[in-house]
Amino acid sequence: MSVKKRKWREDLARTLRAWGIYRGCRPAFFWSVGLSSLGKAVSPYVTVWFTARLVSELAGGRDPVALRWDALALLLSSAALTLLNAILSHWKTVEEDSARRLVYQETYMKKWLEMDYPDVDSQAVYDQFSRITQTENFTGYGLLEAREQFEKTLTPVFQVVGGLALSVSLFQARVPEGSGVAFLNSPFFSLAVLAAMLAAAAFSPYCGDKRNAYVDRYVDEGRLSNRAFSFYGYMSGERQRAPDLRMYRQQENVCEVYFVRDKGFRPGSSIARSAKGPMGLWSAASAAVTVALTGVVYLYVCLKAWGGAFGLGEVTQYIGVATNLFLGISGLFKAAVDIRGNSPFLERLFEFLDIPNGMYQGSLTTEKRSDRKYDIEFRDVSFRYPGRADYALRHVNMRFRVGSRLAVVGPNGSGKTTFIKLLCRLYDPTEGQILLNGIDIRKYRYREYMDLFAVVFQDFQLLALPLGENVAAQRDYDRGRAADCLAKAGFGERLASLPKGLETYLYKDLDKEGVEVSGGEAQKIAIARALYQDAPFIILDEPTAALDPVAEAEIYSKFNDIAGDKTAIYISHRLSSCKFCDEIAVFDGGAVVQQGRHEDLLAAENGLYHALWEAQAQYYTSEKG
Ligand code: ADP
Repeated sequence: MSVKKRKWREDLARTLRAWGIYRGCRPAFFWSVGLSSLGKAVSPYVTVWFTARLVSELAGGRDPVALRWDALALLLSSAALTLLNAILSHWKTVEEDSARRLVYQETYMKKWLEMDYPDVDSQAVYDQFSRITQTENFTGYGLLEAREQFEKTLTPVFQVVGGLALSVSLFQARVPEGSGVAFLNSPFFSLAVLAAMLAAAAFSPYCGDKRNAYVDRYVDEGRLSNRAFSFYGYMSGERQRAPDLRMYRQQENVCEVYFVRDKGFRPGSSIARSAKGPMGLWSAASAAVTVALTGVVYLYVCLKAWGGAFGLGEVTQYIGVATNLFLGISGLFKAAVDIRGNSPFLERLFEFLDIPNGMYQGSLTTEKRSDRKYDIEFRDVSFRYPGRADYALRHVNMRFRVGSRLAVVGPNGSGKTTFIKLLCRLYDPTEGQILLNGIDIRKYRYREYMDLFAVVFQDFQLLALPLGENVAAQRDYDRGRAADCLAKAGFGERLASLPKGLETYLYKDLDKEGVEVSGGEAQKIAIARALYQDAPFIILDEPTAALDPVAEAEIYSKFNDIAGDKTAIYISHRLSSCKFCDEIAVFDGGAVVQQGRHEDLLAAENGLYHALWEAQAQYYTSEKG
């Protein structure tokens, strides 16, 4: 019993938290839903009340003047309420829409942006998130459902309060003794009618629950079909896929998977069969009980009127009020069931939103030193990616001299990028320490520490925004500096040829006059972005995807000039690109197997560097002479 009680409280607490998220993002949403629910709930009572007066007059005095006024009041109140409700409903729709968008930004996007990098990079977290959004797309359960529940809970609350207030006199009105139905005066009858209302109101959500159980059964199937739809349904319109689809004649395959193999949403699917069979029966049972209850209410009210407790006008009023009261009670039950039903989905959502930021956030400042004296040391650092048994880095020891040029070379998968991720504190070492000026980097303020590094990642991403904003990584920027950085990165001529210069949008997503840039050009923009940041460390992660070996070597040596007094780190699996560096660290299988200057490393004939150099020499010796 106590377990069940606690569970209810949890369900309610989760829903309240979800409503709180909406209120936080958009307070006007709360007011619009509150007022439109009030309008929707109260209007029928007003209409019923004026109708009752009109009917009373018709059945009683039949005074033409009073009748005219009653009819006018009924018409005017109905018209005014319809107008008011339309305005409120329109306001609510607009607010709901912006609330939805804001909530998406405030919850999902903000969470992703604030999460520790290891969680962003984790497949498990990604799966957790797709489960939430896919279920939301298929069933609407989760935050979206909670938004709708707010209205679906408030409206019945107003209906019940109004209904009870207006029906007190129905239960109180006494039938004269000797009328044959005086037994209706017994409080038992009033209670029996209320109990019938409660029972019928409870039965309807019970049916709904039974029906939903079928929906739950097909959630996985539906999610799969939804996934197939979102994958294959849009594939035909994806530009990058178009060449592949055509060359391999995959158009038919795609259509076949989508239209034939995936049967989830087709007529005759198990979902459709169930909707026609048991799900339909449960819905019908719920409707039948509602009709039966209406009969009971009519009987009770009409018998009382027949016995002489009240006149014809009140019959109209009480039947109207009782019908709405019943709607309110069943609405409340339904809201309770829906809140319960949505709770597990909210639980999953909050598990995601509550993923803690576990990375230690230090408090020391990195103090922007004008002398750029930043001394970094890797002290016996080992690292394992979360969930992986093998080490990506093993016992790495290294020290960077300020202003030097360091190259990190080695075969693919040897741990070069991982080394950089640890250096920038995207991940923390599993064992060992990284020190900045002799102090563990975890002790520094996270953001400040990160700002020491400007990295051009291998898979760097530019945004579909103006060129200048991409370079500066912000909206307001120093135009002269942005143009200067672009020129240093070798993009000067192209910039001069762009009619809108720094205002030119990259790509066509947001501006149809945007420019498409090649891989090499994008690389230059990414380098300009790193230069603009003016960080003491500048890192270039192998740009091999976009460049041939010769172009890469050129960029690297040019970069050497641009980097000036900064400490520059180059990563590559092509040794020729880095031979000018002061120090070269050779990675293999996650360990630093050799370290030194190019000439010394090449002289060690048994070393990996020598072997790699020999193997790669054929690619560039002819071009480089
Ligand atoms: P390199 O940059 O030298 O090509 P990486 O540092 O990218 O090598 O990879 C080193 C090892 O770590 C590889 O075995 C790779 O599979 C693994 N690895 C890289 N990134 C991840 C990740 N996000 N999760 C799990 N393992 C990873």
